[in-house]
Amino acid sequence: MRRVSRIALALAWWLASTMSPACAALIAIDVGHYLEKPGAISARGRPEFEFNLDLAREIDTEIKSYGHKTRLIGDDGRIKELWRRPRAARGADVLISVHHDSVQERYLSSWRYEDADHRYSDMFSGFSIFVSRENAGWRKGLQCASAVGAALIKAGFRPSLYHADPVYGENRPFADKAHGVHFYDHLAVLRRADMPALLFEAGVIVHREQEITLRDSSEQKKMAASVALGIAACLG
Ligand SMILES: [Zn+2]
Repeated sequence: MRRVSRIALALAWWLASTMSPACAALIAIDVGHYLEKPGAISARGRPEFEFNLDLAREIDTEIKSYGHKTRLIGDDGRIKELWRRPRAARGADVLISVHHDSVQERYLSSWRYEDADHRYSDMFSGFSIFVSRENAGWRKGLQCASAVGAALIKAGFRPSLYHADPVYGENRPFADKAHGVHFYDHLAVLRRADMPALLFEAGVIVHREQEITLRDSSEQKKMAASVALGIAACLG
């Protein structure tokens, strides 16, 4: 698998250097959550939506550098209904939904940061990728998820793996453990998508150290470049 991944990544690089506009694909990039309900709250009180937006914009830039077209979904922070997201992605070759992770409620503790109380957990860190077997294009979605995971690991990022733990609220079986990919069949954005779809949890924002890394713009660029490389490899 690792050898296959290396070959796929090398092929993606070659394609990027030779690609003509005729073979450009359309990648839909969904910014998870919205302003009114912005998702998880980080260890220092920053809403997940803001993390998702920063990273989605970087991924958008990196994917375009391969000659592919993109469509950002939910970047205005106003899409409330989940079903609107896969609908907005119609016509795309791949949908990637960008999120940042938290942990189960029972693992959270309190601490003070800049004179305010916040909740955190330093138990888990790393990225996770989900695919749904109820998604019409899930086999291709899994290929893309594996390629993205391989590119991230090659760049030095690590999968969190804890979503497979046999505890209440997790139990997400591995689809490709080596590359941090799980099945999460009922995820609405994925199962309702007409095209191969994956959900990317970039990292755990309630983890105090990882939050700092995830807010670093050079780390965001590095991560976005890996995601784009994986998508390009998968489409190639
Ligand atoms: Zn989220």
